[in-house]
Amino acid sequence: MQDKELYQHILGLESPWSVTEVKLDTENQQINIHVTHPEGTKFCCPACDESLPCYDHAPERQWRHLDTCQFQMILHAKVPRVNCPKHGVKQADVPWAEKGSRFTIFFERFAIDVLLATQTVTGTMSILRTKWDQTWNILQRAVQRGKDRKEAKPLPRIGIDEKAFAKGQSYITLLYDLDNSTVEAISDGNDTDSGNACFSQLSSEQIQSVEAVAMDMSAAYVKATKQSIPLAEGKIVHDRFHVMQLATKAVDKVRRGEHRQLKQDDDNRLAKTKYIWLKSQENLTEKQQSLLKDVFTLQLETGKAWAYKEMLRDLWHHDDAASATTYFKDWYRRVIHTKLEPMKKLARTIKERIENVVSYCTHCITNAVAEGMNSKIMSIKRRVGGYRNRENFKTAIFFYCGGLDLYPR
Ligand SMILES: [Zn+2]
Repeated sequence: MQDKELYQHILGLESPWSVTEVKLDTENQQINIHVTHPEGTKFCCPACDESLPCYDHAPERQWRHLDTCQFQMILHAKVPRVNCPKHGVKQADVPWAEKGSRFTIFFERFAIDVLLATQTVTGTMSILRTKWDQTWNILQRAVQRGKDRKEAKPLPRIGIDEKAFAKGQSYITLLYDLDNSTVEAISDGNDTDSGNACFSQLSSEQIQSVEAVAMDMSAAYVKATKQSIPLAEGKIVHDRFHVMQLATKAVDKVRRGEHRQLKQDDDNRLAKTKYIWLKSQENLTEKQQSLLKDVFTLQLETGKAWAYKEMLRDLWHHDDAASATTYFKDWYRRVIHTKLEPMKKLARTIKERIENVVSYCTHCITNAVAEGMNSKIMSIKRRVGGYRNRENFKTAIFFYCGGLDLYPR
């Protein structure tokens, strides 16, 4: 009698449900707990909530509950069915589990905690002694639950970015809420349609609430934003880290070209200098600083390209778009008169999109949130060893980065 009461408390069971039997199965390391309700108990139709007499019972089912020491706890019950005049014969809800789950709510909550803490499905499987499908099912249902509950909040500052799903040309597009650092929408591919597919997942109120959109300089997302967001032209901000990344690549291209040329005359002055040109000056080590100084005084093309790159950095230190534009025009004029082809190409690319580069002064947003989250997503992907397919990968992104309320109640 005592053990039944104990497990009644452990399971948090309330009337009309009570424990009728506790059986220890030492061979399988299980504690089997049977629960039932008194005859004549009424249950609610799950569709309309009307209280109805018990019609019959579905065959006995099992739910896994939290372990007791090394023993797995298994709850057994026959779920009552009601015969609703409006909805026909339906299984009533049970208080310890969600519909369709093979786990109790307590167990699922714990599994979600373990998934969040370990950030891996396989790690969670070994801690909980669950199978892949079961563990994945808990994660998937948590995401669905969170999405169903999520309110369509205003999204004044958003970012849109691509993410490689697998090696090769497989991409997905992610839409971020930059204020809350959450992923709000995901779509397949990285073209204009992909961008629009992300925007279409927002409510029309959310679309209206968008004030600024951070993105790289890809034409596809610019086009999609113009098609989906009203007055987009003044809202697009090309991510400054992305622009600087292009500048760094241009410097590297100059270095590679010059190094190749110098080497023909056995001139190795640019050997082993790759990384000093890639970093910004303040991030160099003391040794790199002095190396930079040495190479810089050699009046090489690479040094000039690097100086223009560092000058470009100051573009984002202006308080308003007008003075930033003036600064850029001056920078452009200098660069375009050099023989540094990769830098000239960069200058032209930025010039074409300059309004949406200096719009940073108005909106002050970058996709740094996206970059931060990308590394999180990648590390999750690595540790789980892939999500088996693209849909699973998307689900996992929402689980870890969606800002969702995942827990069953
Ligand atoms: Zn009903």
